[in-house]
Amino acid sequence: MTLSGAHRALVPALIGEVRRNEPMARHTTYRVGGPAALHVTCDTVSDLSSAVHILNAEEIPWVVLGKGSNILVADQGYEGAVIVLGREFKEQETSDDLIRAGAATILAGVVNDAFTHGFSGYEFLVGIPGTVGGALAMNAGAREGWIGDVVESVTLYVPGEGLVAVRGEDIEWGYRDSGLSARGIIVESTLRALTGDKDAIRATMEESFRRRKETQPVGQPCAGSVFVNPDGVSAGRLIESAGLKGTRVGGAVVSARHANFIVNEGGAKASDVFDLIRFVQDRVNDLNGIELRTEIKFLGSFE
Ligand SMILES: Cc1cc2nc3c(=O)[nH]c(=O)nc-3n(C[C@H](O)[C@H](O)[C@H](O)COP(=O)(O)OP(=O)(O)OC[C@H]3O[C@@H](n4cnc5c(N)ncnc54)[C@H](O)[C@@H]3O)c2cc1C
Repeated sequence: MTLSGAHRALVPALIGEVRRNEPMARHTTYRVGGPAALHVTCDTVSDLSSAVHILNAEEIPWVVLGKGSNILVADQGYEGAVIVLGREFKEQETSDDLIRAGAATILAGVVNDAFTHGFSGYEFLVGIPGTVGGALAMNAGAREGWIGDVVESVTLYVPGEGLVAVRGEDIEWGYRDSGLSARGIIVESTLRALTGDKDAIRATMEESFRRRKETQPVGQPCAGSVFVNPDGVSAGRLIESAGLKGTRVGGAVVSARHANFIVNEGGAKASDVFDLIRFVQDRVNDLNGIELRTEIKFLGSFE
């Protein structure tokens, strides 16, 4: 079937909105990227099940995104469907010992709630943009800790199987990876809430936030750290010592504040960001023999 045929099938089947040719620059923190052929908001599990069923039947590729804070979408866009989770997945509930958060909940809201209740384990998630689903997919965090540390369980929607609960201890939490995206669509999670010393939690959170503001290009369009740190070395330090801070391709620049950030200084194209990533990788490889791997994800065609 064609994309317009899939559009015709999706619209009456879902509560959520289905758009054609939706500019992804509106949905990514890089503020770049061409149109997604289909942009499908799933408001309920039933929406999700119908959308995946229709798209799979029509052999249309699809991907689930949160707030697009770790993704670079190609200028030509994506010839498939971007699925985002809506209403039912934005619910959050906090009890004495657990936080239940839908995958579309904004991570900052959960961190704030944890702070208000004096729960520890969330201190290092301060200032990380995006959704709980994106954070779980990426095992978001900092040097001192990551979200996987507080996960009790995750509920996935697995096409053909339905809702599947996975215990936190059965997830392979790694550096900026959990393997969850490969297993299904994250729809909900239950997070541990261990009561800690509120003053100590506040002090650690404030320190994390202060350090972030001091060392990162806060407020400039970007997707956070571009590269994962190779074993025992900081990617930012390698890039800085290669003299690459301030290097520019079109509107994309290696941040003068943090060398592992490539920012959109205005009018950047996705190809500018991509070319600059390649340039940095080549230079660091030439100088140090180290291949920098990207942390950010790519959607669409770049070669
Ligand atoms: C200024 C800035 C600072 C940042 N600092 C940090 C930091 O300190 N630490 C850190 O870890 N990250 C950081 N990031 C990166 C980013 O915020 C995180 O990776 C975040 O968790 C991504 O969430 P998202 O909702 O935006 O996901 P998206 O970018 O939309 O998606 C990221 C990946 O997750 C997958 N995904 C999203 N939702 C689901 C779902 N429901 N089910 C299955 N897969 C899903 C997507 O397919 C994609 O592969 C930063 C980004 C910015 C812009």
